[in-house]
Amino acid sequence: MKNTFFCTHRIFCDICFLKIKKMSTKAYAAKAATSPLEPWTLERRAPKPHDVQIEILFCGVCHSDLHTARNEWGGTIYPVVPGHEIVGRVTNVGDQVKKYKKGDLAAVGCLVDSCRECNNCKEGLEQYCENGMVGTYNGQERDGSGVTYGGYSKQIVVHEDFVLKISDKLPLEGVAPLLCAGITTYSPLKHWNIKKGDKVGILGLGGLGHMGVKLAVSFGAEVTMISHTPAKEKDAKRLGAHKFLLSSDEEQVKSAANYFDFILDTVSAPHDYNMYLNMLKTNGVMTCVGAPPTPAQIPAFNLIMKRRSLAGSLIGGIPETQEMLDYCAEHNIVSDVEVIDIKDINESYERMLKGDVRYRFVIDMATL
Ligand code: NAP
Ligand code: ZN
Ligand code: ZN
Repeated sequence: MKNTFFCTHRIFCDICFLKIKKMSTKAYAAKAATSPLEPWTLERRAPKPHDVQIEILFCGVCHSDLHTARNEWGGTIYPVVPGHEIVGRVTNVGDQVKKYKKGDLAAVGCLVDSCRECNNCKEGLEQYCENGMVGTYNGQERDGSGVTYGGYSKQIVVHEDFVLKISDKLPLEGVAPLLCAGITTYSPLKHWNIKKGDKVGILGLGGLGHMGVKLAVSFGAEVTMISHTPAKEKDAKRLGAHKFLLSSDEEQVKSAANYFDFILDTVSAPHDYNMYLNMLKTNGVMTCVGAPPTPAQIPAFNLIMKRRSLAGSLIGGIPETQEMLDYCAEHNIVSDVEVIDIKDINESYERMLKGDVRYRFVIDMATL
């Protein structure tokens, strides 16, 4: 606890204490869309009665971190501290915390709060909170106390309802990416009831894509990796994919027409959705999780003719994220990672853009 500030949020302060204690935390931040990430010190709140304070051990690097740091989706508030694939150890808890104690392993994913009252929140779909979920970074705290800062930092303070339990049996660096890449692929595969015998295409072999392959295979589906990178074929098979389809090969694309029950699109860059919609059989569903910054054109006829659906899916709620973590622990599923020093984060972003990541960068936070 280094600093004590007067809170600017009068109502909150008058109800509880007049001063909110804060603590300084080392971090890496982007200060503008065109600046590299660089060391920065941020202030976090000291734990309130229901808060858990976590020393961050590993944080995965998601393509959303890059989209946000560079303001590709708009709305980035600078300085921004990305990172929402967080694993660490509890160092302190508020006096009302029931589920965690000092020394426990703990994790934080893509959201740190929501209204808890709307229909979606009541159903455990906090990511779709009707009053706006609070993202782990670049979000606005619900008490008006400011912007949220993510996991490229030494520690984080989160309400216990948004903290997750992780197994001590799996390597922590491999668990970190489950908090976004894992749940973002698990949730749609579950929602569309992917099961034994279904023909599933996973589009894009990156952080999300490689988790999509592992999870869909574990659900018993026949999995085809659809990639624009020929060099990834061997890895796709090693990860468990039964087939590999090179999206730049016209013959292979033609032969996949009307083939899939379900396609999970994880591609981060603009691409032609129609080419993949044509690979769906009658009643097939293509779900977008990849979020390229530019809009796509989809003629209605590409959906009408075979009653195809184009859908989207956002991360997962807290109960489903815990379910996914428990499932992965039971089935020994982790991410394939390259552990990096935080000083190499900018180079990692460039490598991610080139598709040169096998398959998730994870920052060793001891290097901060
Ligand atoms: P990533 O590791 O960079 O993987 C993206 C993959 O897309 C690449 O490995 C590449 O696979 C493919 N790709 C890239 N450029 C392409 C192009 N020009 N044409 C065709 N394919 C291309 O990224 P990620 O972390 O998995 O994230 C993927 C996307 O999902 C990002 O847009 C991210 O923001 C979004 N996301 C969404 C959610 C959600 O809740 N919906 C959650 C997390 C992330 P191949 O080389 O195999 O073709
Ligand atoms: Zn993410
Ligand atoms: Zn809500």
